[in-house]
Amino acid sequence: MLDIEIQPADDSQKRPKPEDENKLVFGTVFSDHMFIMNYDEGKGWHSARIVPYHPLSLDPATMVLHYGQGIFEGLKAYRCHDGRVNLFRPGKNWERFNRSARRMCMPEIDPDFQTHALEQLLRLDVDWIPKKKGTSLYIRPTMLATEAALGVRPAKQYVYYIITSPVGPYYPEGFNPVKIYVTDKYVRAVRGGVGEAKTLGNYAASLYAAEEAKKKGYTQVLWLDGVERRYVEEVGTMNIFFRIGDELITPPLTGSILPGITRDSVIHLAKHWGIPVHERPITIGEVIEKAKTGELKECFGTGTAAVISPVGELYYKGETCVINNGTVGEWSKRFYDEIVGIQYGEKNDPFGWIHQVPIN
Ligand SMILES: *Cc1c(COP(=O)(O)O)cnc(C)c1O
Repeated sequence: MLDIEIQPADDSQKRPKPEDENKLVFGTVFSDHMFIMNYDEGKGWHSARIVPYHPLSLDPATMVLHYGQGIFEGLKAYRCHDGRVNLFRPGKNWERFNRSARRMCMPEIDPDFQTHALEQLLRLDVDWIPKKKGTSLYIRPTMLATEAALGVRPAKQYVYYIITSPVGPYYPEGFNPVKIYVTDKYVRAVRGGVGEAKTLGNYAASLYAAEEAKKKGYTQVLWLDGVERRYVEEVGTMNIFFRIGDELITPPLTGSILPGITRDSVIHLAKHWGIPVHERPITIGEVIEKAKTGELKECFGTGTAAVISPVGELYYKGETCVINNGTVGEWSKRFYDEIVGIQYGEKNDPFGWIHQVPIN
């Protein structure tokens, strides 16, 4: 395994820590240190180091800035009430990172090294992991093509880094359902494209539709498939689930959907609890029809940031349909409580999802 050189921040390089853990705004404050390493074709990964957080210096011709060859991950470190620090299924993030890397013609990183590098970083910045219930340290591993050259081809040089950011509870005012706009005008991804990779361009591509939805008073966009614009794919940057009667339905992973780790965890829990769960195509027509007959009892998004995001209202083609009277459903709450309970070490972990970080 590569050696990691550690250069701790001196007092002048330390960053102001947020004083009020209730007022953390997502993704705005970053901790004292970052992990960083470089890749050169023929040489592989090298120069692994943990250094004070600092700006990158990039040549204007840097390939990622022109052609978008870049990927990232998102996970969190949770502090338990007894001081332990937990990661939730980090191996899944490293697996997905390497899948994204392959799809984008980028070099892979050894998953064990990923865990090791992250642990070293967390150990140094342990005081940045907030303590209040519901808070966490958001972790953003990122890889970018850094070769300075124009021309569309895979780069020969890359940088990989991990930055971390303390974040507040996702639901400071309580667990509230959101209003969703179903777009049949714009699509997020198509089969055969890069929708299943956590790659930069997917998020730029989603902005316009999200802004339109916001102007109309909706929080997020529900994406339909790129070909027929009938099949439900995702909601915002989350996977989506429907409770129809007493069954749980989520669209299958057919290439255009991001394989969420929270999605996988909900499927696991449902099976464990004896809830019938189906990964099958579901059209927006079926969703609207089942909402009208009352069979659609719940709808929720899943992702690391919110864990579970209940949907209280859907707008589609001039019609509004309210789900579960706009209140949080029983299953949404149950999945939320269970996953959050496991993450913070307050509930049993029957699947071995927790990776405890050795911090002392
Ligand atoms: C990251 C992401 C998700 C959720 O994945 P988790 O692993 O559950 O956080 C879902 N959809 C998109 C588009 C994403 O980028």
